[in-house]
Amino acid sequence: MAHLLITGGAGFIGSHTCLVLLEAGHSLVVLDNFANSSPESLIRVLELAELGFESERLRVIEGDIRSEADLNRAFGATPGSTGIEAVIHFAGLKAVGESVAHPLRYWDVNLAGSRSLLAAMEAHGCRNLVFSSSATLYGYPEVVPIAETAPIQPINPYGHSKAAVEQLLADLYGARLQSQTPWRIARLRYFNPVGAHPSGRIGEDPNGTPNNLFPFVSQVAIGRRKQLQVFGGDWPTADGSGVRDYIHVMDLAEGHRAALDVLLAEPPQLLTLNLGSGQGHSVLEVVSAFGAASGQPVPYEIVPRRAGDAAATVADASLAHGRLGWRTSRTLQDMCRDGWAWQSGNPKGYGK
Ligand code: NAD
Ligand code: UDP
Repeated sequence: MAHLLITGGAGFIGSHTCLVLLEAGHSLVVLDNFANSSPESLIRVLELAELGFESERLRVIEGDIRSEADLNRAFGATPGSTGIEAVIHFAGLKAVGESVAHPLRYWDVNLAGSRSLLAAMEAHGCRNLVFSSSATLYGYPEVVPIAETAPIQPINPYGHSKAAVEQLLADLYGARLQSQTPWRIARLRYFNPVGAHPSGRIGEDPNGTPNNLFPFVSQVAIGRRKQLQVFGGDWPTADGSGVRDYIHVMDLAEGHRAALDVLLAEPPQLLTLNLGSGQGHSVLEVVSAFGAASGQPVPYEIVPRRAGDAAATVADASLAHGRLGWRTSRTLQDMCRDGWAWQSGNPKGYGK
């Protein structure tokens, strides 16, 4: 059992991970400014974990990772004199298109925010960190499946900001390696997280028109949008549509728990791991599986390719399996079933 700080814990991946960590017996402090989430997700996490609203095991601090004062409040929020033992750092901005339009905002929240967090961790004597990185670092991959050794070549400001934080973490790790308390760091490169908790009580709640395939397909299935546009039917893939490595958000949440356990149990190290299923699915396969899960076909039209897309990105997931003893267990059908349970039970998300 550890006291953990979860930045961005109210968001999509953070909320599912909070649930898994509470169920594993940990106590959490969540720091979130709710820029892209609602406190309601954490109320539901408490419900699912069968904990009361006043539970000391989940404290919520509304605040910004760029604010030293907010970070100090979060580090001081554990009960008694126990300090924060490790941080899982989800907080950040993640919309590729928005990052192209507003690079300053992305460098500020993702890089300057991470820098502030790391400085606060050093000040509070906490040097254990799990960081949300992304497969977007690989840009247009030359070899698929993609191993962690593939070149880092991001193609947009969002990807550049994630690559910069990865580099900062490597620099900090190197600088403190010979000290009394070296850093223990996991840089987790997620592929395409989708789905929801099987209860349908927590899930992904994007603002405005979704950019990503899964939330868009769900909103078509519930009737909020007329039809899906499939970006490209002429990719060099089996059915001509783009291929991605979709990972159920509960598998991803469990991957975080496994990474944390390994970091805290083993000698200090800098772990860099792909978190994906190792299996690719095309857009048309997703459309068909979602239609089966929701009980009605998802209308779609094939339109030209979207700028910046790659034909196929699939993880080589073997290193995470070897290092963490973790691998995904949920199928595309599970992702669609649970995603549909969330969408149909909460047609307007958390109603934020
Ligand atoms: P999300 O937007 O649902 O969650 C991010 C959370 O961070 C939100 O609750 C938001 O309110 C909070 N936040 C944003 N700026 C903040 C700030 N300045 N201070 C405090 N809190 C702040 O996104 P998610 O999908 O849960 O992603 C979590 C992390 O994983 C992000 O760092 C993202 O870049 C990374 N990631 C996501 C995906 C994906 O497809 N969802 C893929 C790869 C990596
Ligand atoms: N996609 C699509 N229509 C949409 C959104 C996405 O055809 O409205 C395709 C996209 O071209 C890619 C796949 O779905 O092949 C996954 O896209 P998403 O944006 O979800 O993830 P990413 O491209 O970041 O991996």
